[in-house]
Amino acid sequence: MSPPAAPCILLSPVGAFDGELLAAVGEEVRRVFGCETRILRLLEEVGFARDPVRGQLGSTPILERLAAACPPEALKVLALTEEDLFIPVFTYVFGEAQLGGRAAIVSTHRLGLAPGFPVAHAALCRRLLKEAVHELGHTFGLRHCPDAACLMHYCRSPRDVDRKGGELCRYCRILLNDALARAGR
Ligand SMILES: [Zn+2]
Ligand SMILES: [Zn+2]
Repeated sequence: MSPPAAPCILLSPVGAFDGELLAAVGEEVRRVFGCETRILRLLEEVGFARDPVRGQLGSTPILERLAAACPPEALKVLALTEEDLFIPVFTYVFGEAQLGGRAAIVSTHRLGLAPGFPVAHAALCRRLLKEAVHELGHTFGLRHCPDAACLMHYCRSPRDVDRKGGELCRYCRILLNDALARAGR
């Protein structure tokens, strides 16, 4: 038997997902949360979450399945998808997370400026890193932050995402450090 794995944050691609972006998210998660990361595909298919009328994936049912499938040694799981996500009250979402729970998801689908205007890979990557950390931040109990420069600031558009910085504000950083300490990190 192999020794028990150290606590880590799982990165779980859903469907096809760009390998370079996945690696960049892993690096950023290790930097911000100080946890190891591991790539593990927890959901083989997500047809259960697809809305037949909208054609989009419902993020909430995916989070429930992810949390149920998450192995015990994983502190959190972040799913990554190129598909369009929604929750019933919004046309679309960049991602969703269980506040104080274990599962989060982020999508690249709406992080371009507009359909038909693909952004440079580097710009998309910067936005994805911010939204990935933002959603994982929610799983550590962080809520939306009024500081427009903070990663936990709520953004409606890719341009809003570009405006916020790549770090947590001092207040959110303290809350995160407390949550990490409680999690034994
Ligand atoms: Zn949020
Ligand atoms: Zn903040």
